[in-house]
Amino acid sequence: MGAGMEGGMKRMTGGTPIELRPRRKDFLVFGAPLIGEEEIREVEDTLRSGWLGTGPKTKRFEADFAAYTGARHAIALNSCTAGLHLALDAAGIGPGDEVITTPMTFCATANVIMHVGAKPVFADVDRRTFNLDPDAVAKAITPRTRAIIPVHFAGRPCDMEPLLDLAAKHGLIVIEDAAHATEARYHGLKVGAIGDMTAFSFYATKNVVTGEGGMLTTHSDHWAERIRVRSLHGLSKDAWKRYSSDGFQPYDTLYPGYKYNMMDLQASLGLHQLAKVDANLKRREEIWARYDEAFEGRFLIPAPPEPETVHARHLYTLLLEPEKLGMGQVDFLEALKAENIGAGIHFIALHLHSFYKDRLGTKRGDFPNAEWISDRTISLPLSPKLTNSDVDDVIAAVLRISGRA
Ligand SMILES: *Cc1c(COP(=O)(O)O)cnc(C)c1O
Repeated sequence: MGAGMEGGMKRMTGGTPIELRPRRKDFLVFGAPLIGEEEIREVEDTLRSGWLGTGPKTKRFEADFAAYTGARHAIALNSCTAGLHLALDAAGIGPGDEVITTPMTFCATANVIMHVGAKPVFADVDRRTFNLDPDAVAKAITPRTRAIIPVHFAGRPCDMEPLLDLAAKHGLIVIEDAAHATEARYHGLKVGAIGDMTAFSFYATKNVVTGEGGMLTTHSDHWAERIRVRSLHGLSKDAWKRYSSDGFQPYDTLYPGYKYNMMDLQASLGLHQLAKVDANLKRREEIWARYDEAFEGRFLIPAPPEPETVHARHLYTLLLEPEKLGMGQVDFLEALKAENIGAGIHFIALHLHSFYKDRLGTKRGDFPNAEWISDRTISLPLSPKLTNSDVDDVIAAVLRISGRA
């Protein structure tokens, strides 16, 4: 069945009963960003300035982000994936090393471990939080383990205390994947100011949007210096100023680095997105509460945030019970699409993807909790751009499809 107006019109002319037509005329895009006039004016200003690349606006965005997280250093990059890769690279992790992470994540988290030539080792998650289970992590540690990459799933901060204790006991580095968790706090600490290094994403669907973009935060001068140099070809400090009005700056290659720097064009968006980050979170909390109210008792809804934490509310997940529903995840998503609602699956457990099955020999049954979630979860739209009427459309569609309207 086709999505969009066409599908609806066709079924109308075919004499389909009126209640089977989608309630919405236009397709509700999953994860559409909320971009204001401030962002548009700043991008225009950058375009007119003649300086599009890494420059003064990127510097300002870094300073604002460091202040927001409370981290000593914030290094702007062109993605979160770049941040995770640089963190492993700067820590000297490579062939022969193992890095523990969650299967309940986007492929980038494990791909970067392959990029440095190390081996990803998955540990199972908790069914309630969808986050790494510290006991499972403890069991996965071997003499070759060098680092742990916890992912703050959907913006819910991981239980960091036991993970940090394990890291201290075994001399491991903690690199947090905070792609969903820009606003998250754990026990009075801001995510970004907890582990050794933390990577954030500003991809088009994330809580702060620069199109493509990311940030790496750390308290350590040592890591910060290595990350900064490696993020721009391995050139000596402030090489981005080499064509500025300060006069020609001689530069030197210190390392065969990467092309991972952020542009001022991207930072133009980031500066204003960050200024609105808490207002947007508030709006997503409102939408979240409406979903909770509509779905509680009918579906398995996300657990409330743990005490003394702030949940960054990046994804609202429903767990479908296929036995009760008589319908699987993919059929449910198709039916939502026919109702003109865009939704997603976050995530298909990574140990079930072809590459990791072939390379690591993982299989169904290895991580039962991650599989249980992976087989049931769907993510509903949660952008601050949603109007109350959009939210009503999503709720009506979900209830109608599940036969619980
Ligand atoms: C989006 C995402 C990433 C990758 O972020 P990019 O900025 O696109 O590189 C990494 N990890 C998780 C959990 C993500 O959702």
